[in-house]
Amino acid sequence: MSQRGVIQHYQQYLPITARTPVLTLGEGDTPLVRANALSRALDCDVYLKLEGCNPTGSFKDRGMVVAMAKAAEQGARAVICASTGNTSASAAAYATRAGLKCIVLIPSGQIARGKLAQAFVYGARVLAIDGNFDRALELTRELGEAHNLAIVNSINPFRLEGQKTAAFEIVDDLTRAPDILALPVGNAGNITAYWKGFNEYARLKNIALPQMWGFQAAGAAPLVGGAPVPNPHTIATAIKIGNPASWAGAIRARDESGGLIDAVTDEEIGAAYAFLAAREGIFCEPASAASVAGLLKKQREGKLARGKTIVCALTGNGLKDPEFALASDARIETLPATGDALRRALDL
Ligand SMILES: *Cc1c(COP(=O)(O)O)cnc(C)c1O
Repeated sequence: MSQRGVIQHYQQYLPITARTPVLTLGEGDTPLVRANALSRALDCDVYLKLEGCNPTGSFKDRGMVVAMAKAAEQGARAVICASTGNTSASAAAYATRAGLKCIVLIPSGQIARGKLAQAFVYGARVLAIDGNFDRALELTRELGEAHNLAIVNSINPFRLEGQKTAAFEIVDDLTRAPDILALPVGNAGNITAYWKGFNEYARLKNIALPQMWGFQAAGAAPLVGGAPVPNPHTIATAIKIGNPASWAGAIRARDESGGLIDAVTDEEIGAAYAFLAAREGIFCEPASAASVAGLLKKQREGKLARGKTIVCALTGNGLKDPEFALASDARIETLPATGDALRRALDL
């Protein structure tokens, strides 16, 4: 069967009109895989939503396809976004698909190499600024409004409309909502979108709602501290954000769901990242592992009851950040090209 994509599959739940182009690169319908080792470790039933399987390797594609289709419908001449990496990769791909020019503002020197490569190869105009993501987003708003460029950051409501479809898929796969949805939180668009999706589906399908458990990096945890962080820092570049645009949406999701937003250290993120790869066979990017790091932390604190059904959103693909992967623990042995050398090394 051919891939329907988010717009075609979910048009009845999306702000799609007869004039909206049915754009797709095959986004959505991502796997929900049971995490056997993590389920044992947490004494729960844990599933991983593999959003790294989207066409550009992150969940951003779900929202981008809708934002880009609406920009094309509304006759935009170009789109602009600020990005910690994945938004730029996604915007560049879908702009190409829609026949629009794409301008990307990134914080200089703070983007994972794989993501930067994507934006370039998809043909975006990539400009690095001497400032952080929050500043790049301010500039995006300024230029977008002054020059009639469509802004495709998650402050664009069509982004959140598209992203809510991940919640629909989880409910369809489990035939219910999980007890807990765990995810990393940066600019907080995704937690806002998931909560919207679960609520819309709950009204239609009479299902119970999950608790929303969001996790920020300790060096970039404004929602935990209750105030913007002027100089956020973390190895998890996708969530290195000091002043989330969807602040209010995140707090609403947390409070209405009876959930929580907590912080995890870079060490905890690194440990969860390694666990997922080496114990589950799943390679996600560091930011994505914050959700699993958070669950492990809550369990250590005795705040995770056993027997819960949990879905972790693994937001992006590990291949996007090869430098982190190799820096963390790369031990490659070089041997003579002989069977004997290999037999010795392998104790065969
Ligand atoms: C964008 C992104 C996040 C953060 O999502 P927000 O909607 O900004 O909270 C987390 N992980 C990855 C891989 C991302 O690309």
